[in-house]
Amino acid sequence: MDSTDLIGRIRELERSAASLEPDAPARRDLREAVLTHTEDFLDTLAAAPAFQSDAAPAAELAEHRPAEGPGAVDEILRLFRRSVENTGIRASSPGHLAYIPGGGLYASALGDYLAAVTDAYAGVRFAGPGAVEMESLLLRWMADLSGYPAGARGYLASGGSIANLTAVVAAREAHELRCADIPKAVVYLTDQTHHSLEKALRIAGLGECVRRRIATDACHRMVPAALRQAVTDDRAAGLRPWLVLAAAGSTDVGAIDPLEPIAGIASAEGLWLHVDAAYGGFFLLCPEVRARLRGIELSDSLVMDPHKSLFLPYGLGAVLVRDGAALARANRYQADYMQDTVASSPAADSPADLSPELSKHFRGPRLWLPLLLYGVAPFRACLEEKLLLTRYFHERVRSLGFEVGPEPELTVSTYRWVPERGDPDVFNEALVRAIHRDGRVFVSSTRLGGRYFLRLAVLSFRTHLPTIDLALRVLAEKVAGLQGDGSLQPGAGKGQ
Ligand SMILES: *Cc1c(COP(=O)(O)O)cnc(C)c1O
Repeated sequence: MDSTDLIGRIRELERSAASLEPDAPARRDLREAVLTHTEDFLDTLAAAPAFQSDAAPAAELAEHRPAEGPGAVDEILRLFRRSVENTGIRASSPGHLAYIPGGGLYASALGDYLAAVTDAYAGVRFAGPGAVEMESLLLRWMADLSGYPAGARGYLASGGSIANLTAVVAAREAHELRCADIPKAVVYLTDQTHHSLEKALRIAGLGECVRRRIATDACHRMVPAALRQAVTDDRAAGLRPWLVLAAAGSTDVGAIDPLEPIAGIASAEGLWLHVDAAYGGFFLLCPEVRARLRGIELSDSLVMDPHKSLFLPYGLGAVLVRDGAALARANRYQADYMQDTVASSPAADSPADLSPELSKHFRGPRLWLPLLLYGVAPFRACLEEKLLLTRYFHERVRSLGFEVGPEPELTVSTYRWVPERGDPDVFNEALVRAIHRDGRVFVSSTRLGGRYFLRLAVLSFRTHLPTIDLALRVLAEKVAGLQGDGSLQPGAGKGQ
């Protein structure tokens, strides 16, 4: 190719790729199509089902594989509606009352939009001083909220699971566990510990550690005396007590382990204390719960998920490590091609220094924008409202005749119907299936003491009193339907 041909070909290719850079009117059309669609989604959200059990429409996506040619935005958005929005759990719905919902703040979506349009680089400070500063500021805010010292560092991960993994790796490195130490290293947990921590241990090469399940009390909280005894016994047996996994809001029932006494034991015994507050962390904003989280400030690492108790759309979980140097040691790296960035900021203060990531989603704005726009007060009020809604539900469902689990410490209520005859587990499984088929609200189930229980988790910012009343009506209706007697009298069940 001579130089004229080369230039000709370059120009031709540039024209073929021109649709990747729409001009202002084309951007406006695209934006309006998407915004019209999302406005319609939000306007109809309250009346839409919280759960659609028919997953078949999702398969339609496979019929529209990426092709050489362009598609039409309206058709693409209709496909998205049918196959994505209209299948499964509508996580943004006020009726999503299962697992741990959050709802997805609209301002966060626009924060993501800012991050994506500007495509600011948030991996290293040299490349994106503002982006990195924003994320450090948010982590500093969370560290202050938790009572962590100035030397603490953290990382805005994609969610609680990766945040937990990051903490486990920091704990492994801080205690210099080597292959030969692993079979003797002991991890202390309970039957309420989130499964992501078990997964994190395995991924971190720690699958062969000894697990010690510590006894819990009637409210599913770790019993500190049992922890102390287990550590003593393990030492006597020649093992190496290493890591305590405490929960500040277990996913199953919202149990908060007694952090202060646990921290006392961990500190006296030289153990790393990790607190999984993925669910409960931001209840630190509520004075009443804050008192019950006392001791969280004494932990070595801590996870809290803004996509749970700050209502963000999925995709943000934070990890904090009290000794920031430990987090930096676990994630250190060296690369010749990055020599300018390292030379310009020798201190380990960039996400790349403190996490497994390098180029990463600039996650800051999805939290920063709503916090600066609204201030903290509405978040606190919303969390307090959810605490009270849960108490209200727990009382009402009990007075409908359901057997209830422990008084909710946070925003999960557990309950089950004990039928006059037959296996309660079978009955309650059928009850959950009936609620899922109905779809107006979505609840989930768990096992407590080997028995099948329903859960109601109130944490979507959109859930208010009418949705809780609806959930109670749906429950009463479905129990009556399953009993075949068409009626549910308050107090008709057992276990009051
Ligand atoms: C949700 C949750 C996790 C996992 O977090 P993801 O953000 O779903 O990855 C870990 N621990 C607890 C207590 C949780 O509630």
